[in-house]
Amino acid sequence: MSKAWLVSDGYLQTIIFAKTKNQAISAFEPNCTPSSHEVTAKREKKYDQYAEKGCIPVTVLLDDDWFVCCSGCFEPVVKHDLGMGALIKSEREALCESCAGEGDADAEESMRIVS
Ligand SMILES: [Zn+2]
Repeated sequence: MSKAWLVSDGYLQTIIFAKTKNQAISAFEPNCTPSSHEVTAKREKKYDQYAEKGCIPVTVLLDDDWFVCCSGCFEPVVKHDLGMGALIKSEREALCESCAGEGDADAEESMRIVS
């Protein structure tokens, strides 16, 4: 059974589901930080409940002050953006303000957070 690990290179951090600490660390592949950073992992038990599913719902991440990448343009979306026009597209996807404005075809499947 996989567990949730908070993996960090001292600059970026993410949640990775893995059986062991070493597996979590080796799955972490930051592409925008110097490789000299030491990657560390520690248990994040509150996300263990999502391990079976393999993903943490976007709404949970945003509530915990994570950002998620827009599924249209990969710009980061934070909770504050939801009040500015960004949308939660599905449990796994969010759209930034500008992509949400273009995505009229998907509008009926979207949930807007009213703040
Ligand atoms: Zn976008």
